[in-house]
Amino acid sequence: MKIIFATGNQGKLREAAEVLGPDYEIVSPASLGITEDIPETGSTLQENSLQKAQYIFERTGLPVFADDTGLEVDALGGAPGIYSARYAGPNHDHQANMDKLLEELSKAVPDGDPASRRARFRTVVTLILADGTPHFFEGRCEGRIATEKRGNGGFGYDPVFLPDAYPGRTLAEVSEEEKNAVSHRGNAMRALSQWLKSR
Ligand code: IMP
Repeated sequence: MKIIFATGNQGKLREAAEVLGPDYEIVSPASLGITEDIPETGSTLQENSLQKAQYIFERTGLPVFADDTGLEVDALGGAPGIYSARYAGPNHDHQANMDKLLEELSKAVPDGDPASRRARFRTVVTLILADGTPHFFEGRCEGRIATEKRGNGGFGYDPVFLPDAYPGRTLAEVSEEEKNAVSHRGNAMRALSQWLKSR
């Protein structure tokens, strides 16, 4: 089955292809000539995820899914949450976002107590098939924020996120397979895949 993933993020495209396996051909909007930024103006992960999937569905009429992800840090009242991509400014600079997060957290919890660095990634995936009805799948990954950036794998906030599943390693220090096995997006994509198979 050919299905569009409404993202320009190569890391997300690779992860989705690996989780969904060979039964699905994942294509990007860019490969269909859609290269503009997809609007993301909602106030929840679900609204943004729906908006991205609908934008591509309206232009192609083809099966599509989109995700929206937020990093929720308990000691920061759930921030950066839906503002994760532009936490340090409008140009989606991952390094600046992580630097700001580490700085804000060190101000909020100066004692460095690991329990006070609890956080999670939360993803909402929206799937739209030919009939245009949206279906939603949520995935989470629980963990803690590290005290410094570590690792070269993954993308986004991976170098500062210590998943509970791999104590002592950030998501940027585990293999892509290991990340997919426990990640928010991996969990949401597995729910989507099971739903598609059960139809
Ligand atoms: P969006 O869902 O692409 O809008 O992502 C929101 C923010 O979360 C961006 O800064 C992404 O880089 C970051 N992000 C999304 N997924 C992941 C992930 O799997 N690991 C680390 N950061 C992520």
